[in-house]
Amino acid sequence: MTHRTAMNPYSLDSYQRPTLETPDQQDRILLHSCCAPCAGEVMEAIKASGIAQTVFFYNPNIHPVEEYEIRKDENKRFCDKLDIPFIDADYDKDNWFDRIEGLEDEPERGKRCTVCFDMRFERTALYAHEHGFPLISSTLGISRWKNMEQINDCGVRAADRYDELDYWTFNWRKQGGAQRMIELSKREEFYQQEYCGCVYSLRDTNRWRMANGRPRIKRMVKFYGRDMIPTREPEDS
Ligand code: SF4
Repeated sequence: MTHRTAMNPYSLDSYQRPTLETPDQQDRILLHSCCAPCAGEVMEAIKASGIAQTVFFYNPNIHPVEEYEIRKDENKRFCDKLDIPFIDADYDKDNWFDRIEGLEDEPERGKRCTVCFDMRFERTALYAHEHGFPLISSTLGISRWKNMEQINDCGVRAADRYDELDYWTFNWRKQGGAQRMIELSKREEFYQQEYCGCVYSLRDTNRWRMANGRPRIKRMVKFYGRDMIPTREPEDS
């Protein structure tokens, strides 16, 4: 007797990408991106829908600077591959630390993250306003580590600063998006970060690891598809 493995209709190989509908049928978007693994699936979905996109890399939260550079370079590499414009915005980390002051011990998904998202989306919205983009969104929402509602609230709040601007609250995780994000990251052998980005997330992830008998994070060494090691599972939100 032969056993057949059912084909997964959402896998990268078999998924028939639908044409996505943007708010007000806008055909141009400024996409805030946090990193290549989160951006890959979102960028391919937008491209397949014929929506003109520009990637905006503004992440002064990422610590230390080598980590910031490798995440940025990986994202730019994929933009170049897909022929998508890439905006390399400021690494104004001093402003980030100023805004976060007093929230250093907040847990991930707490108030510090709201301020962090606000800062990144405010700059994205400003750039969109100054350059005539009618729509913004962010790749942050595809990560199961993040609270989607928190991200969408911050995105909508940033876009509301300008009359002609909308934040697209599309759920990139649905219809297998979270799975394709991993498949695509392996296909492209993206750099695999093991903490959200800021110095406090690095500290707290290492604390969790030590409490659970795991080694500390080694930065700059892991790439998807080369050395996959199971890590802590996120809670769904
Ligand atoms: S944990 Fe992530 S989202 Fe939260 S403040 Fe740090 S970098 Fe920003």
